[in-house]
Amino acid sequence: MKALALILLAATTAAAQPIDSMIERELPSLIDTYKTLHTSPEVSMQEEKTSAMVATQLRALGYTVADHIGDYQQAGKTCYGVVAMMKNGDGPVVLVRTDMDALPVQEQTGLPYASRIANVMHACGHDIHMATLIGTATILAQIKDRWHGTVMLIGQPAEEVVQGAAAMMRDRLYERFARPTYAIAIHDNSSLPAGQIAYCPGFFMANTDAVNITIRGLGGHGARPELTKDPVVVAAEVVLALQTIVSRENSPLDPVVVTVGAIHGGTKRNIIPDEVSLLLTVRTFKPEVRKRVLASIERVPKGIALAAGIPDDRAPIVEINRAESADATYNDPALTERLARALKRDMGDRNVVQVDPLMVSEDFGRFGLDGKIPICMLNVGAVDPAKIASGARLPSLHSSEFAPVPDATIRGAVKAMTLSVLELLR
Ligand SMILES: [Zn+2]
Ligand SMILES: [Zn+2]
Repeated sequence: MKALALILLAATTAAAQPIDSMIERELPSLIDTYKTLHTSPEVSMQEEKTSAMVATQLRALGYTVADHIGDYQQAGKTCYGVVAMMKNGDGPVVLVRTDMDALPVQEQTGLPYASRIANVMHACGHDIHMATLIGTATILAQIKDRWHGTVMLIGQPAEEVVQGAAAMMRDRLYERFARPTYAIAIHDNSSLPAGQIAYCPGFFMANTDAVNITIRGLGGHGARPELTKDPVVVAAEVVLALQTIVSRENSPLDPVVVTVGAIHGGTKRNIIPDEVSLLLTVRTFKPEVRKRVLASIERVPKGIALAAGIPDDRAPIVEINRAESADATYNDPALTERLARALKRDMGDRNVVQVDPLMVSEDFGRFGLDGKIPICMLNVGAVDPAKIASGARLPSLHSSEFAPVPDATIRGAVKAMTLSVLELLR
């Protein structure tokens, strides 16, 4: 009788254990996983070993794991999506997503666990996200008496090229596994103190549209401009005129970015080339603003070419590259506020803060099926608070010097994701 009571007591103590001490126990192995991933990054659409590591660890935790999920609709391209399910009685289905890809960046952090792959680096912290997913999966598997429903963990490839989520959806993710009631994710943040959680109800990240403009002129000798239509001069005018879309056509209350990130044309100083190409990234939030800005980007180069006397059959070509475009991340306000309340209760108001939207983009929004499934992406600070206090320059995400503080960041992120799932499946 006494033995049974002791066993029961031991069982309840394990179940009632504070999440903090459970995370502390797992932290060394999560940091090992993080460092292993950081050392051997793989760029978008090549996450073969990375996804295998994620799948293996989730399988070992008792999840039902499927890998190689996703379809890029490109010959010879394998998609390395991972899906890990744990059903624990009746209840909602909560999708928790990590991304897995690294960037073509030569790491300059000098860390002992810096990337060993030339020109490839986890410069966006997707290694932090994977360690967080594994940590969250570990804790949830240990406290199944505290939640009911289904946990659906997603290892998503190719986030940086905004193609992975679409590829997984195209492979009938929800039909084959489960249609989530909620979808959540967390991304590290390069300006907040390590472990601090940030949330933003409503629009959180922008629509991104990749636009290519080809300015076509009539080339010729650099010394005989009168015989040509110079696309370099037209391109220069176009670059400046595009900025008036933001400053003169758009309400100052609606954020818009039009960036010409690349301009290519010409071969030699004394040759006027036949064409110049511009590569743009365009960021917006509201659908109507997006539509209007893209229409203006179509109109402006054509008007300038017309003014320059370029014939109609050489009018500029404006194309949107849909594969490199993504919809805004709209955090369902009710879901976001609910999670923020739950996190504040447990982590304290100072550790859970509301932040402004960002003009960067993500393809996580795809999992929300255009607003049919409430989604929420949180942020976790990744910076040493002392460094923030010192006023030193903080390397941004995608920088070759970005170096998140592993322990505090992973600790905060695992806690936030675990508490979020528990809130939704209590
Ligand atoms: Zn990124
Ligand atoms: Zn990222």
